[in-house]
Amino acid sequence: MEFRDLKRQYQLHKEQIDFAIMNTLAQAEFINGKPVRQLEEKLEEYVGVRNCIACANGTDALLLALVTWGIGEGDAVFVPDFTFFSSAEVIPAIKATPVFVDVDENTYNINIYSLERAIQYVLDSTNLIPKVIIAVDLFGQPADYNWLRKIADKYGLLILEDAAQGFGGKFEGKEACSFGDIAITSFFPAKPLGCYGDGGALFTDCDEWAETLRSLQVHGKGEDKYDNVRIGMNSRLDTLQAAVLNEKLSFFNEEIECCNKVAERYTELLRNDTKTPVIKPQVYSSWAQYTIRLKDDEQRTRVIKYLKENGIPTAIYYKKPLHVQKALEQYYIKELDCNISEKICKTCVSLPMHPYLKDWEIEEICHKLLAML
Ligand SMILES: *Cc1c(COP(=O)(O)O)cnc(C)c1O
Repeated sequence: MEFRDLKRQYQLHKEQIDFAIMNTLAQAEFINGKPVRQLEEKLEEYVGVRNCIACANGTDALLLALVTWGIGEGDAVFVPDFTFFSSAEVIPAIKATPVFVDVDENTYNINIYSLERAIQYVLDSTNLIPKVIIAVDLFGQPADYNWLRKIADKYGLLILEDAAQGFGGKFEGKEACSFGDIAITSFFPAKPLGCYGDGGALFTDCDEWAETLRSLQVHGKGEDKYDNVRIGMNSRLDTLQAAVLNEKLSFFNEEIECCNKVAERYTELLRNDTKTPVIKPQVYSSWAQYTIRLKDDEQRTRVIKYLKENGIPTAIYYKKPLHVQKALEQYYIKELDCNISEKICKTCVSLPMHPYLKDWEIEEICHKLLAML
């Protein structure tokens, strides 16, 4: 059994994907070929945002957004403590200061009360200037953007939406990647919309930021890439990856629906004996992960071992909260404890989740898991 079965996906759509790849090879426009702009246009329409800028990966996308806003030394950027390293990695990379915010016990997204406490603390007790909230749509569930927007407005902050896992999800009927002042996603193969290598994209309604982003991603280009008006980087999406994504988009919504059915079935079977995911009523999740919580670390270790012996892969997202990562621990502010994140890290485990998981496989996973509790 696979944790995320990309082989089954390819076999089912082989003809269509092979044709797109062969066609790109024949055209030999490997950088900035037509499929790249086609993909951006499709994604603009899908998300309902004026500008989509494809780039090399999700981490670059986060970085490009912060650079576009001129974030740097002396600026505080708020980030949930329970997320992939990349959400916070980009903050010290531009010499700004990450401030870790505890997450919600149920949704695992940024906790609004902890966020406001952190902003107040930075204002009252540090010399930093609050600038950006990085909101992560963790495991596929968009964060609560009604509350986040209220807080951002109250303190004059920008929202950077990290929808690397959330693409395809919705909040109050609106697509993920439409909520941040700038939003990003990742096309890493295991994400909800994955390509066949690294890839990412940025979304914004602001044309001026979009223009800066397009410049920064191609060596700070002006008129063209040999006219350089700022220091940038090289972060483009390959034409081949864009061609693959154009095909994958044609069956993406069906896949997310299948993931929702898989999640429903898991929850039916596991809700009485484990802490199953809590999805808010106004949310449609893209189910990047199906993550449950067990009693304690000891029980988790036992379950993972038994499942592995039976050919069932699992993963721990995430083993450590950000504030205990060696590379980030220096930024931890003791007064802003992240107890919930710590607790989740000790007990969470993610189960196989993909659109092609069969009913009998879900039943087998749950049967084996429940036997070990
Ligand atoms: C995967 C991921 C990223 C980074 O995306 P890459 O394309 O791998 O650079 C950023 N944030 C979150 C929450 C992610 O899961």
